[in-house]
Amino acid sequence: MVPHPLAAHVLGPVLSPGDEGFADEVLTFNRAVVHTPELVVGATTTADVVAAVRWASEHGLPLTVLATGHGATVPVRSGLIVTTRRISGVVVDGESRVATIGAGALWSDVVPMADAVGLAAVAGASTVVGVVGYLLGGGLGPLARSHGFSSDRVESFTVVTGTGEVVEASATDHADLFWALRGGRGGLGVVTEVRVRLVSVPELYAGSLLFDTEHVSTVLRGWLAWTPTADESTTTSAAIVRFPSVDAVPPPMRGRTVLMLRFARPGDAQSGALAAAPLRALAPVMTDGVGVLPVAQTDRIHGAGAPVPGPSWGRSLMLTSADDDLASAVLEHSGPDADHPFMAVELRHVSGATAHDVAGGSAVSGRGPAFTFGVAGADPTTFETVLPSAAAAILEALAPWTSEELNPNFAGMSAARWSEPTTDRLREVRRRYDPAGVFSVASPGEAEV
Ligand SMILES: Cc1cc2nc3c(=O)[nH]c(=O)nc-3n(C[C@H](O)[C@H](O)[C@H](O)COP(=O)(O)OP(=O)(O)OC[C@H]3O[C@@H](n4cnc5c(N)ncnc54)[C@H](O)[C@@H]3O)c2cc1C
Repeated sequence: MVPHPLAAHVLGPVLSPGDEGFADEVLTFNRAVVHTPELVVGATTTADVVAAVRWASEHGLPLTVLATGHGATVPVRSGLIVTTRRISGVVVDGESRVATIGAGALWSDVVPMADAVGLAAVAGASTVVGVVGYLLGGGLGPLARSHGFSSDRVESFTVVTGTGEVVEASATDHADLFWALRGGRGGLGVVTEVRVRLVSVPELYAGSLLFDTEHVSTVLRGWLAWTPTADESTTTSAAIVRFPSVDAVPPPMRGRTVLMLRFARPGDAQSGALAAAPLRALAPVMTDGVGVLPVAQTDRIHGAGAPVPGPSWGRSLMLTSADDDLASAVLEHSGPDADHPFMAVELRHVSGATAHDVAGGSAVSGRGPAFTFGVAGADPTTFETVLPSAAAAILEALAPWTSEELNPNFAGMSAARWSEPTTDRLREVRRRYDPAGVFSVASPGEAEV
């Protein structure tokens, strides 16, 4: 294997198609997406990223960034990919309550370190997601209504711009780039480090309630009717899950459709139980997993354990509101009696603290809508056959409730959408920090297309 000329300027691997290790270097969490760029650079330092950006710029190669591939929806077939997984250091300062996190770190690297000093990271439902990719989209987790978008707590980013310059973006330095990176997602630079404020959540009442097939309709309708009464510290979401009829699924669940109602409320067990009581009363609960939960275990709230890499497909939108007619439309297209190809259909109740922007503003999409909505499939034989038309039908049925905005972390195969003024401003910031257009975007969820 003849070393690539760029290898002389980079500490990490520089690989071309056919080189040993190339396929592993570009492997994504979504196994349905296989990247085949012309070159991949496994960055180990900010200097490696600078060398990669300069090489891409000089050779006219569009540059994309890959951390875990949780956000991968379309294959990258040209240009240069920078992988960040080797830049994975995390330092937690209990006194200033700030975590300094490398570009390749996962939330699962941060959460135990924060916990060790009695603090918590406002992370997503799954902690195997990359911190930086998650924050660049905003980040809506199980504490969304009480704590807002996770990016609201970013103090600063270290970024390599399109000209190969290293800048600190914060409220006082490069404030325009800081505004854009908090929610504007792709095409803005390569982030090599981020500093995030941690929070104190001494008590948490959380988990999920499982309802059996015959109660799915009642619980979905009842939950949606209850959401306007929820206080801002309570975050809930509902997923209709159809377990496949395969041996890997244990018998009580095999081939079954259930509704999983997730609940999270910082505070003591007594007030938590009081807030959850109307939900427990909606129908007989099959499995009650809501109770006192250590905040370091918030990734258990959405149930089903840590997601494993595999093929996945999804379409999404955000909803301005949701009522009983919306529930009827969802059930008609994806309920237990419907003939549909989805493995899961999920609605998350947001608004709450997510509706309040940070001082100085941010590019986050989705402060206005009240819910996220998404459908997902995991059987690759359906990805190009029945899933697209089934998803199009349900998204069309939900048009009356659909918001103009669609947060990139929830876009899946759909194109992310920002408000018009935010889109215009993002375009300006991209032009300012990447005048030659070196940065490409890896999927429709990355930027407006
Ligand atoms: C199982 C699962 C659960 C999820 N749960 C949630 C959730 O609860 N809440 C939520 O908000 N989102 C959630 N997401 C969405 C997830 O946050 C986004 O897909 C996020 O972009 C993943 O980031 P990543 O780095 O892990 O993935 P990648 O696919 O590696 O990165 C995604 C994109 O982020 C950008 N990016 C990543 N690193 C950098 C960098 N260093 N510099 C510049 N750009 C970079 C790039 O544009 C890249 O294409 C979930 C996704 C999955 C698959």
